[in-house]
Formats: sequence, structure tokens, C-alpha cells
Amino acid sequence: MPTDTVLVIRGGLVFDSETRRFRAADVRSRGGVIEAVAAPGQAGDGDRTLDAAGGFVIPGLIDCHVHITSSGEAAALNTMVGEPVPVRAWKAAEHARWTLHAGVTTVRDLGAAERLNIDLAHAIDSGLIEGPRMLAAGLGVTMTGGHGHGFIAREADGPDEVREAVREQLRAGATAIKLFASGGVLTAGVDPRSPSFTRDELAAGVEEAHKAFRVVAAHAQATDGIKNAIRAGVDSIEHGVWLDDEALQLMAERGTCLVATLTAPWAMATHGAAAGVPQYMIDKSNAVLEDHARSFQAAVRAGVRVAMGTDQGTPLNRPGENAQEILRMGEHGLTPASALMAATAWAADLLRTPAGRIEAGKHADFVVLPRDPLAGLAVLAEPDAFIAVVKGGDIVRGGPRENTTGGMA
Ligand SMILES: [Zn+2]
Repeated sequence: MPTDTVLVIRGGLVFDSETRRFRAADVRSRGGVIEAVAAPGQAGDGDRTLDAAGGFVIPGLIDCHVHITSSGEAAALNTMVGEPVPVRAWKAAEHARWTLHAGVTTVRDLGAAERLNIDLAHAIDSGLIEGPRMLAAGLGVTMTGGHGHGFIAREADGPDEVREAVREQLRAGATAIKLFASGGVLTAGVDPRSPSFTRDELAAGVEEAHKAFRVVAAHAQATDGIKNAIRAGVDSIEHGVWLDDEALQLMAERGTCLVATLTAPWAMATHGAAAGVPQYMIDKSNAVLEDHARSFQAAVRAGVRVAMGTDQGTPLNRPGENAQEILRMGEHGLTPASALMAATAWAADLLRTPAGRIEAGKHADFVVLPRDPLAGLAVLAEPDAFIAVVKGGDIVRGGPRENTTGGMA
């Protein structure tokens, strides 16, 4: 696409993140950046026009926690390490395309073997393959024997080694950092209730990441691990299975964001047995399920910031099905408008990326829906029904309704 191409989206109802309502408006973008949100008919002519009549225009969705190189098949995240890297890369390219076509225009990838997520991000940026914008953590950083070791994380012990491990990810081109503050579900023999890195180790990792202006995510399920991570200054708590009152208060005070990934244990507990997910994963998922939901609801009540993240790539949590997390957040205490904000504006705030809102200066990333999501979030999870998906002013889905009014080839 020429860098100055003008796209006008005309005739739709456009989501306003301030009022959290839809209003009739046209949107003009130039070179992939939103230039103006105008009254109907007032956005001028573009090189291309997208007819959104009868549709609901929302910002492109943002998933703050994926493992996009993984298919989400029963044990893919753990077993893919044995596959040749080129095969994994071809698969990852497909996952990226499915994700984008499901309306997810930005993701944060929090761990991939061989740091394939960083190469994937570059391939997408350069236009080699189709996919969402990616912030990529490279490998996560975990303690020796900690959660994620051997597949999505590099081991390190002591503040100095954690520093080195974070610097290694930065050198490799990581645009996000992931630290493991507790055990988790997918690693055999690791208890989700046990904290892992000490506060000093976490603080060292956070310092290195923040020096480089990177956002830090902490995998944290155990209560003490969560508090260690918050006090160490991480930007988001991933999962947050066992949040007590003190943790909630700390998060609310410091603005630490919760990325709950409700879908991950739910998918394993609900469909795991039939699909052949390893039994230890199912057992651990069942053990966290109720407390996880309770903690999320408590966080919403306590006014903790939340952002959408699926942990896509975990068993039965597939690329392109990301929006199910928005529905699940809606079932666990968020209003439809808040659930939509968590998957757009609030997620962009966490990732410090100019997306997630339909306003001048933001990426021209949109999904045009056939129905009002505020009247029923389910439409977000029906990509086949989408009128269009637009990324950076490019219409990646929804060609039939596109009219070319200019001289574009
Ligand atoms: Zn994860």
C-alpha cells in the first residue's frame, strides 16, 4: 500500500471510547493512521472507501497474552519444541493470519521457543506474511525448574542472572518482557500455588525492562508470587488466580493491570479429557478454575484495571478464537462496554501502543461488525459474519463491500 493511501469508512456506527457508545460517523485514515472522525458524509473522498452501512465499527481487538506460534492443540505448547523450526514457522504464519482475520490486530506474545515470536513479528512488520501487530517477549524468564522452563522460558537465578536474561531478550529484539513469579498449570511437577522468583529477582528484571521502555508481564497465580510481582513494579499480572484483598488493594493503588486469561484453564477443564490433554494439566486446571473466576470478579469490584488476554496457544485455546475471552469476561462481571474496552482501549494503555481507540493519531485498525456488540458480545466471536477487518488502513477481510473510488490498482 502506498504510504499516503486514504481510506474512508463510511455509513457505519462508530465506537467512541470516551462515552463508550456508538454514534453515526465516518472515519478517514491516511497511510495507516486515523486522520479524522467526522460527521456522516463529512470525511471527504478517499483512494478507497469501505461501505460500513448497517455496521458497527470498533477498534481492532488487542490480545495481551498469546503464544501465537502454538496451535492450541492438546499439548502443542510443550511438544512443539521437538519440531523443526521451519515447520513451526510455517504453522506460526498460519496462526498469525487466522488471528488477524478474527479481528485481532495487535497481540503481545509472552514466550516462544527459539524466540520465534520475534522473527514472526519482523516477518509481519516487513509485509512478508499477514498477521497482527506483535509485541514479542522472546523467551520468558523463569527460575531454574520454574514454570515454562524447557519450552517458553529461559532459566535464571539471582538478580544478576535475571538481569542478564532480560538483557538477552532485549538484544534479540524483544519488545515486551515476561517474568515468572509463580508456578503454573502447564509444567509438570510445578505447583501453581508456589511463588517462584524472589522480589529482588523480579525487581532486577523489571528494572532492566523499564530502562529499555518495555512493558513487563508477570506470570503470577500464587498469592505471594502476585504480591512479589506487584511490589517489584510489573505492569501486568497474568492469570492472577489467587488474589487476596491485599493484592487487589496493591493493584488498584499502583495501577497494575490484570490480564486474567480466563479461557486457558476453562478450555482444559471443560474439553481437556476428550481431547487428550495430559491429565496433570486437567487436574491443575480444575484446581484453579473456581478461584480464578472468583478472583477476576473481585478485581472488577475492586476497580483493578483489566485488559484482555487469552493465553492462546495453551491446550484447546486456538488462534482466531481469541474473542471468546471477551465473552468470558462479560460473563464474570464486566459490562459489555467494559469488556470491549478491556479488549481495545485498556489493552492499548497497558501495551503503550497507539491503537485501541478510534481517534486521530491512532493506528487505522478496525473491525466492522454486523450487530451491536453492546447488545450481545457473542458477535465478536463470529469472524465469518464480520463486515470487515482493517489493519493499518488495509482491508484484510471484507473485500466484497469495498468500493474503489480512486485510481488504486
Ligand atoms: Zn502464557
